[in-house]
Amino acid sequence: MSGPLLVLEDIRKTYISGGGLAVEVLRGVSLTVEAGEFVAIVGSSGSGKSTLMNILGGLDRPTSGRYRVDGRDVTALEGDERAALRRDGFGFVFQHYHLIPGTTAQENVEMPGRYAGLPAALREGRAVELLGRLGLEERRHHRPNQLSGGQQQRVSIARALMNDAPVILADEPTGALDSASGAEVVALLRELSAAGRTVILITHDRKVAEAAGRVIEMRDGRIVADSGRPAPSPANPSPAPAERPVAGASLWTDAGEALSAALRSLGANGFRTALTLLGIVIGVASVIALLAIGEGAKQAVMARVGALGVNLVYVVAGSGDPRLPATPLTEADSEAILDLPNVESVMPYLDTPVMVRHGNIDHRTEGLATSASLPLTHRWPVAEGAFFTRADERAGAAVAVLGHGVAERLFPRGESPLGKHVLVNNIPFLVTGVMAKKGDLTGSQSTDDWVFVPLSTGVQRLIGKPDLQLILVSVHDVGRIAQTRDAIRALLSERHGQEDFQIHDGTARIQAAAETQDTMTLLLGCAAVITLLVGGIGVMNIMLVSVTERTREIGIRMAVGARAADIERQFLMEAALVAGLGGLVGVALGLAGGAVIGLLAMPVVFTATAIAGAAASAVLTGMVFGLIPARRAARLDPVVALASD
Ligand code: ADP
Ligand code: MG
Repeated sequence: MSGPLLVLEDIRKTYISGGGLAVEVLRGVSLTVEAGEFVAIVGSSGSGKSTLMNILGGLDRPTSGRYRVDGRDVTALEGDERAALRRDGFGFVFQHYHLIPGTTAQENVEMPGRYAGLPAALREGRAVELLGRLGLEERRHHRPNQLSGGQQQRVSIARALMNDAPVILADEPTGALDSASGAEVVALLRELSAAGRTVILITHDRKVAEAAGRVIEMRDGRIVADSGRPAPSPANPSPAPAERPVAGASLWTDAGEALSAALRSLGANGFRTALTLLGIVIGVASVIALLAIGEGAKQAVMARVGALGVNLVYVVAGSGDPRLPATPLTEADSEAILDLPNVESVMPYLDTPVMVRHGNIDHRTEGLATSASLPLTHRWPVAEGAFFTRADERAGAAVAVLGHGVAERLFPRGESPLGKHVLVNNIPFLVTGVMAKKGDLTGSQSTDDWVFVPLSTGVQRLIGKPDLQLILVSVHDVGRIAQTRDAIRALLSERHGQEDFQIHDGTARIQAAAETQDTMTLLLGCAAVITLLVGGIGVMNIMLVSVTERTREIGIRMAVGARAADIERQFLMEAALVAGLGGLVGVALGLAGGAVIGLLAMPVVFTATAIAGAAASAVLTGMVFGLIPARRAARLDPVVALASD
C-alpha cells in the first residue's frame, strides 16, 4: 500500500456526561500521517489530545467520521479485530508508564509478545535485546517500584517496541519526568523515528513538541494549526504493519502468567484471601472426610452382611399378611428343596428361648433346633468335638452343640464341655461339640451365644410344635442363585397351593444394604457439595474484588493487544488456581480430619476417586464461580479501564 499510513476524516467524539449532557470533545478532526513521520500534537489540557490518540491507537471508536490504517477502514472494527490492530499496529507509551505492578521490567516488556503468541525463547531474547538497547540490561529483573520514573518510561518504550509495531503513540511521555529524563525520552523517540518508525507524540509542552518534524496544534477538539510535513527522506522506508493472524497467547504461557498473577494478588492480601478460601477449604475437607466416613460405614455393613452368606436363600414362613391363612413350613418342605438343582444343603430353623445350666451357672439364651447340615450351610466350623449327626436327628438324641460364648459362660474355668451334660430347660443334654467363634449378630444377639440341638429333639422336648420359622438353603453356584430361588418358590407354591412364604437370597440382601449405604454416602456428599458451593461464592467475591482492583492492569493488557478471550482466560485461570489452592489445603485437612475420626470414632475408608473428585470439584467450582468476574473483566472498555485508578 503506497497511500498515507493513517487517515482521519472528519472524526467526532461525543461523551455523554454524568448529567446526561452530550459534550463534543472532538469536533471534526481530519488528519493524514505518512509512514515514518514524527508528529507532535500540542494543545492545552482538555483540548482532546488523549481522546484523539485513543482513537488513533484503536483503543476507542469515534462517534462519527472515518479512520483508515494503511488503506484499511478500521472505524467500525470490534472485539478481537480491534485488539489485533492495537497489538500489531501500535505501541503505546503513557504519561504514567502504566507498567503492571509486581512484575519485572522484562515481564512487562514481554507482555505484548505473549498476546501475539510469540514463543517464549523469542520473546525473552527480544525483551533482553530491547532493554539492553534502552540501557536497562541491569534492571531487567527489577519491579516498577524499584525503578526511577525515567527508567520506567524506558521500560514502557521497550514494551511499545516488543511487537515491532510501525506506529508509536506517546501520550505526554515526559509529563511525569524531570527535565533530564524527559529529554532522554524525547531523544529516544527521535531515534525511533530516524530508524523509520512512525511516532506520534502528544504533549502540552511546546518545547517538547519542537523535537518532532511536524507540529499539529489542537484547541477545543479541533486542529487549529499544522506545520505540515517536512520534505520526505526517502532513506527511511517505514515498516508496514506486520500481518499476523488473529491468534492469541498460548494456553501454557497463559497458565504460567496466571499462576504468578494469582499468587501475587493472593499474597498482596493474604488474610483476606485466607478468609475467602476458608469456604473451599472446608468444603473440600468435608467432602473428603464425609465420603470416607460413608465408605467406612458401607464397608463395615457389607462385611457383616457378607458374613451372613451370599450363598444362601432364605425361605421365611408366612406371607407377611396376617389375614391370609398359611400352611406352616415343614421338614418335608426342606427335604423337597434339597432335591432341586444347584441346592447344596438345606437347614431347617426353629428357635426358642431357653435356660441352660451347668453346675450352679444359669444362662438365658436362644436355642436353635436345626439339622446336621448347619456347619456346611453356614460355612461355620466346629472348634471342639463334632456337630450332631443325622443319626442323632433320627433318634431324637438329647445332644447339644454349644456356641463359643455359651461354652465360655458355662465352663468359665476353661475345662472342656465335651462329654459333659448341661441342662436345657431342665432336660439334660450331652454336649458333643463347641462351635468356632463367629461374631455375627442376628438382631441384638450374637450367634456365638446360641445352643444347637437336633430338630426332632428340639421339637419334642423344648418347643412342642414342628412348624419351622425358616429354611436356609445354600447353593453351589452363587451365579445361579436367582434361578434357584425361583425354583424353590415354584416348588413350595405347588406344595402349599399358595405363596404363603417369603423368599429372598443373600445377594439381594447385600444389594439392599449397599443401596442403603450408597444413599447415606450420597447424602453426606450432598452436604459437602453445598459447603463447596458456599466456597465458590467466596471465590466469586474475591475475584470480583480483584477485577475491580486491577481494572487499570486490564486496560493496560488490552492496550498491548490482549483480546477479551485472553483477559477472560486469565481471570478464569486465576479463579481456578485460587480455588485449586484452597482445594489442596482442603485435601490435606480432610485427610487429617478423616484419619483422626478413624482413630477415635468410626471406621473411615479414603478412596482415590473421592479425593481426586473433591480436588477437581474445587477447581471446577473456581471456574464456574470465576466465570462472572472473568466476563466482567473481559467486557471492560479499554479506555475506561486505563483511566481508572
Ligand atoms: P487532553 O488529553 O487534551 O487533556 P482529553 O482528550 O483527555 O484531553 O479530554 C478532552 C475532554 O474530554 C476533557 O474535557 C475531558 O474532561 C473530556 N473527557 C475525556 N474523556 C471523557 C469521558 N470518558 N467522559 C466524559 N468526558 C471525557
Ligand atoms: Mg491527555
